[in-house]
Amino acid sequence: MIEELFKENLKVFKAYEVPKLEYKVKLDANESFLALDEEILETIASRLKKITINRYPDAESQTVCQLYGQYSGISPKNIIAGNGSDELIQMIVGTFVDKNEKIMTLNPDFSMYKSYVELAGGKALHFELDEEFNLDVESLVEKVNEEKVKILFISNPNNPIGRVIERREIIKIIKSCNCIVVIDEAYFEFYGESVVDEVQDYENLIVLRTCSKAIAVAGIRLGFLITNDLLLNEIKKVKPPFNVNSVTQLIGEVVLENTANIKEAIEKIVKERSFLLEQLASIEKIKIYPTFANFILIQSENIDRIYNGLFEKGIIVRKFKDERLKRCLRITVGSRKENQILLDCLKGIEL
Ligand SMILES: *Cc1c(COP(=O)(O)O)cnc(C)c1O
Repeated sequence: MIEELFKENLKVFKAYEVPKLEYKVKLDANESFLALDEEILETIASRLKKITINRYPDAESQTVCQLYGQYSGISPKNIIAGNGSDELIQMIVGTFVDKNEKIMTLNPDFSMYKSYVELAGGKALHFELDEEFNLDVESLVEKVNEEKVKILFISNPNNPIGRVIERREIIKIIKSCNCIVVIDEAYFEFYGESVVDEVQDYENLIVLRTCSKAIAVAGIRLGFLITNDLLLNEIKKVKPPFNVNSVTQLIGEVVLENTANIKEAIEKIVKERSFLLEQLASIEKIKIYPTFANFILIQSENIDRIYNGLFEKGIIVRKFKDERLKRCLRITVGSRKENQILLDCLKGIEL
């Protein structure tokens, strides 16, 4: 039987399912609602003709790393580009986690950390946030060191909650945990704070960034890992040689050459976030969590009614199977028009 050749630990696994839903308004995946400017698209189109597509891409994605270094104020030699930050999470796990070794994540937090660790035969432990999704830093540090985990993953701002851990607290965590600390800053642009400037100061810090959210190019799959030389050299042993394709590198370059556009886009999204927050607050029986990202987590006793009511009108938001988030929905900030459609629909649902 061919199944005998399958891996034991994959037996309980299911493929990551992205629901193929018909929609009019897509607010489920935290993408940017802004398309690239016409001028930028023109530049991409004309430069595409010049890439030597019969050749392999630059294995180190040097130009795009250089531009990302400028964008984020770090030396390009401390950056690895990845096929989305997803691939970088997998590389980190592949570099440091052996079978049966442990990592820790917060609960709730981004689910891919756990998935990649379990795929690698490792164990993902959870540290529970409290009722209001606040973090007790002291207990976390204690738990991390007691369990002797190899990696602590934290998204900051947290996906799916939107809350942040202050820089002072993050530094405390990095200093006090005897493990590698990965701070995933996928949404940092909507928050403004970062610990990327600290990667040379702590031997155990890795920062992750992505072009999928604020930089508005989720479709090209481009993310960045930033860390010190020692960890970087270790992770490079695991990096697939030509992991970022030449089309992605080229589009990433053009987008990162136009940082003024990125800044403008962020301002627009943050402005829409304020509008949406304010409007949601006026709806009774919906609780809103404070957010520093481009999405808003809401809670209600009638969450299924809300989800279904939106769904019937072609508005897709993110729901969760997880016990802690059963009464929550995550709504990505959309354009004014999309947000208005959402709000009108919400106001029509009887709660
Ligand atoms: C969206 C997201 C990512 C994935 O980013 P890609 O670069 O598109 O793979 C990583 N971490 C968090 C917390 C995210 O929300």
